[in-house]
Amino acid sequence: MKLVDVDELINSLTVNQLDCPGCPEPEFLPELIEILKEAPEAELPIRSTRWERKWEDWRHQLSWLECSHCHARTLEPYYYCPYCGSYSGGEVYDE
Ligand SMILES: [Zn+2]
Repeated sequence: MKLVDVDELINSLTVNQLDCPGCPEPEFLPELIEILKEAPEAELPIRSTRWERKWEDWRHQLSWLECSHCHARTLEPYYYCPYCGSYSGGEVYDE
């Protein structure tokens, strides 16, 4: 899926129109613009992540959880990463 900015698309259609002053406006253009304006907004897919337990060193005394998506560190396995919003479901993967 490719997300596009409809306002920019409509703008570029109009601007391109102005770049060709001798050309007549295509008959379908107003209808196409209406279709684009009324197109439903796409729902952004939820990015998924997982919490990976990281240890300070080989002694395994001090650890934290790292978001596999944005690499932020926390101590709690949040359902959603508080930094990037990715969904983890609260699962922790120990290395
Ligand atoms: Zn994150």
